[in-house]
Amino acid sequence: MALAELQALERDYAIPTYARNPVEFVRGSGCTLWDADGNEYLDFLAGISVLNVGHCHPRIVEVVREQVARLTHVTNLYYTEPAMRLSARLSESSLGGKVFLCNSGAEANEAAIKLVRRARPRGDIVVLQDGFHGRTYGALSATPQESKQAPFAPLVPGFVVVPKDPAALDAAVDERTAAVLIEPIQGETGIHILSEELLAAARDACDRTGAALVFDEIQTGMGRTGTLWAYEQTGVVPDALTSAKALGGGLPIGALVTGTRLADVLRPGDHGSTFAGGPLISSAALAALEICADAELLARVRVLGERFAAGLAALPYATAVRGRGLMLAIDLAPGVSAPDVARRALLEQRLVVNATGPGTIRFEPPLVVSEAEVDGALARLQKLCP
Ligand code: PLP
Repeated sequence: MALAELQALERDYAIPTYARNPVEFVRGSGCTLWDADGNEYLDFLAGISVLNVGHCHPRIVEVVREQVARLTHVTNLYYTEPAMRLSARLSESSLGGKVFLCNSGAEANEAAIKLVRRARPRGDIVVLQDGFHGRTYGALSATPQESKQAPFAPLVPGFVVVPKDPAALDAAVDERTAAVLIEPIQGETGIHILSEELLAAARDACDRTGAALVFDEIQTGMGRTGTLWAYEQTGVVPDALTSAKALGGGLPIGALVTGTRLADVLRPGDHGSTFAGGPLISSAALAALEICADAELLARVRVLGERFAAGLAALPYATAVRGRGLMLAIDLAPGVSAPDVARRALLEQRLVVNATGPGTIRFEPPLVVSEAEVDGALARLQKLCP
């Protein structure tokens, strides 16, 4: 089907919540995407940090093929091995408590919100300015962005927004606080690393009051920053974390992982989801977790991240480079439009990147990216000099 026909279908039948780029992708492998005309693109967005293992990783393809032909769904009224093995692996790889599987990032945060409110009934949830936690009502209420929240008021009550300042955070947390919910690196609003002081203040405030510290690792997790979870590089261990995006190796899944303190707060009947932890997606996630936890891969993410960041800093139109591992962003010189640069990268250079705002471009390539692909992306970005 030609692109114009797809656009006509979209115009007539798709609720217009997305501003799509005029490209139809039909195939992917590793860091490469192909459009319907056979043109090859270098993917430095990975479906917004979903394809950390790369497109159509052979191990994911093999596992999904095998599982889809055997058993796809039975609901959580019964046992299946992949869900239990995935829960164990997620717990062992992080906080050592228990896991609730779900279907997306927003749902993982919804589960976290229910967990912390169950632990401290009617408690407030403290969130940070510039945070992003998803589009469902609880997650949206934790996402203090006027343009996203205002049209959908009234929101869920009990969310307290604080600036990214240790003293302000400390002052906002008391014995009525159920949780502090934060991204260790804020992704959607432009890759902002939270300072060690801020994270330490969050940990201290939660320890002082008994509130739960919850890290949203939906974008930062699964090796994106050079360790399996971003908290490993911060010196702060949260009481729970949420994961999604790359966890499914390209298929939809989310997870809430607790430490031991919060492991048994939710009880039978408190929460649930029909599709959650189905054997097909859980098999894929187990394989993705194995790939992303590989020490060699993680070391390469750190090395290639530094190489890429150095190259980005040398771009004449970049005024700042931020990020960790392969979660990077550049700010553009005044007057240079990030949406324009991202669009030209796609259409002129066949490089897939994304603008997180008017002056910031985000880069999140698959973690299997090669040195040559990093250099290739930099060469394409050089050619975009305005
Ligand atoms: N939390 C963070 C940090 C995210 O980056 C996102 C998505 O971009 C979400 C939550 C929401 O995830 P989903 O789109 O899977 O609901």
